[in-house]
Amino acid sequence: MLKSQNKQKNQNLKNLHNGVRFISKCSVHLLLCALLVMYMVVPVSATEVSQTEPLRFTKSVNALTAGKTYQFRVNTTDSVKWSVGNEKIAVVNKNGKVRAKRYGKTHVYATCNGEKIAVLLQVKGKKIVGIDPGHQQRGDSSTEPNGPGSSTYKAKVAGGTRGVSTGKAEYKLTLEIAKKLKTELWNRGYQVVMTRTKHDVNISNKERAQLINESGASICVRIHADGGPSSARGATALCPSSSNRYISKLYKKSKKLSDEILSAYCASTGLRNRGISYRDDLTGTNWSTVPTTLLELGFMTNATEDRYMSSETGQKAMVQGLANGIDRYFGYKK
Ligand SMILES: [Zn+2]
Repeated sequence: MLKSQNKQKNQNLKNLHNGVRFISKCSVHLLLCALLVMYMVVPVSATEVSQTEPLRFTKSVNALTAGKTYQFRVNTTDSVKWSVGNEKIAVVNKNGKVRAKRYGKTHVYATCNGEKIAVLLQVKGKKIVGIDPGHQQRGDSSTEPNGPGSSTYKAKVAGGTRGVSTGKAEYKLTLEIAKKLKTELWNRGYQVVMTRTKHDVNISNKERAQLINESGASICVRIHADGGPSSARGATALCPSSSNRYISKLYKKSKKLSDEILSAYCASTGLRNRGISYRDDLTGTNWSTVPTTLLELGFMTNATEDRYMSSETGQKAMVQGLANGIDRYFGYKK
């Protein structure tokens, strides 16, 4: 009884072993089959995409406007590294969203699995601002009509005033400020057109207005500094009146431009606000076909203001104020 029981036990164990061996054999086969299927379906198709189809943009833009964002895409679901050539012109996030910042050219790059592709971006400004730095190295006393069809003739370019403390000529101060304003406006996303970038030029007031009219600029900002008695101080905006015979249709916009620039300028600098002076005798104003203002930055004949306007801190505040006023005119800043 004991012997036959043991025999039975041994037989059972044998059967169990065979069963296990059979199951493990099947598992190996199943595993091999599964691997074969996976190899045929998954890796093969992935290999095919990267081998036969090069990385390319499926969504991109070449002409952008400062201040706006654009979605870029490429033909892969793999992880892509996005970058730009010049982060002052535009920036891109990790999802390919490009934000145009300021006027200029740069590239956007997409890198994936060692492949790098690029698109050239041309960013235009959100608006074009015309700046006329008043006067030039030598005035021009020959004359030109002070408005379209006018029989009144005035000197093409007057000489300008001079700093009583610094000895600096007005044409130098106006270009210093204009150049700094140009940089500031660029950084705020504008395009800027300047009537001059040097002192040694001869461009009449009529020609300056025409240059800006034809540039596509939305506004014209004329920069000057005042002269008078030594006690006179503060800033003034010169604006065409509602009855100006040449540009009365631009009166409202020119008034708004004058108001915004003058108040932002005085707020930033702390200089006295002398208000708007309505002037219909200014050649550079009368020939304009876009809203225009002429800002007298302050008095160069007042020693304190003269020094302030040539100081680093003074010029910084002046430029910030001018740019703030332009931002407010266009509604970019409250
Ligand atoms: Zn002047």
